Amino acid sequence: MAGRIGLAHLPTPLQRSPRLAEALGVDLYIKRDDMTGGAEAGNKIRKLEFLLAAALSEGADTLITCGGIQSNHARATALLGASLGLRSVLVLRAADPAAGAPLAGNVLLDRMAGAEIRLITMEQYQERAAILVAVAEEIRAAGGKPYIIPEGGSNGLGALGYVRAMEEVRRQLDLGLAGGKPFDVIVHACGSGGTAAGLALGASRYEIAPEVRTMIVCNDAPTFERTITGIIDEARALEPSLGAPAALRVDERSRGPAYAVASPEQRCRIVEAARLGGLVLDPVYTGKAFAGLWDMAQQGELTGKRVLFLHTGGLPGLLVQADSFSDALTAASVG
Ligand SMILES: *Cc1c(COP(=O)(O)O)cnc(C)c1O
Repeated sequence: MAGRIGLAHLPTPLQRSPRLAEALGVDLYIKRDDMTGGAEAGNKIRKLEFLLAAALSEGADTLITCGGIQSNHARATALLGASLGLRSVLVLRAADPAAGAPLAGNVLLDRMAGAEIRLITMEQYQERAAILVAVAEEIRAAGGKPYIIPEGGSNGLGALGYVRAMEEVRRQLDLGLAGGKPFDVIVHACGSGGTAAGLALGASRYEIAPEVRTMIVCNDAPTFERTITGIIDEARALEPSLGAPAALRVDERSRGPAYAVASPEQRCRIVEAARLGGLVLDPVYTGKAFAGLWDMAQQGELTGKRVLFLHTGGLPGLLVQADSFSDALTAASVG
């Protein structure tokens, strides 16, 4: 069994949102993984419980990871690393690295945690695996002990965090929460695939839902299907008792204009979710996924179904885009 350290505040709530359920016309529940912690909260902690256990057991003193400039994963790594006495080097993708990283949102938290940020171009980011290895070499040459965490913490080991999350939901259902019955579908935002892989394996193993609907926020479905299948295979190699995954459907309707850019309609849905349910979503991941869920409901695809939406966090990504929300605040059709 892979080692794990306790970093998240668990179990996270499993809630029904009556006003949102009514607005969408579906039997909707929300797994509040935005509440896995304080400023470090979100879905990445569950993966880091396994990844940082491995880093510590290897005697690492420096974590190296990568992501977009406002990466939630990089922020969680920097904060949790600091709590464990580990240094972090964050290789972040920026449109214009020469302009530097504005001190806002996740970047502020990264810097507060003492992380070193290295900006690279979108083009260089294609070669991120090689760049992370080169940074590790550099740290080793200086006498340090690096541990590389892939983008999003998304490998087989990190995905085990979401297998355990499904075990947690099983215990909640057994206690009678959410009516005590399994769901028909789990809906969640996907950016690097590790959450999807763990959910699909855990949903099947713990009989949480027969289907995982993976709302991608960038790239395309075939790319993610390959990536997620690879992560599932890695996770099963680490935990051979895992059986076949639940049916995984990668859905492109949430992508929006670009990574980290939401459409006006998606921003409206974000405002409406806050007004109807007090549910705060973000324009990079959860808001796009929830707008997709809303669309599925309107298309009648969820009629009569019990739906579990996984809230994966991302609040700093909303606050850093505050300026783009003034139109949505007026255009939203509720409140
Ligand atoms: C990283 C992230 C996701 C996507 O999870 P992956 O495992 O990378 O696919 C979803 N929501 C939020 C808020 C995230 O930070």
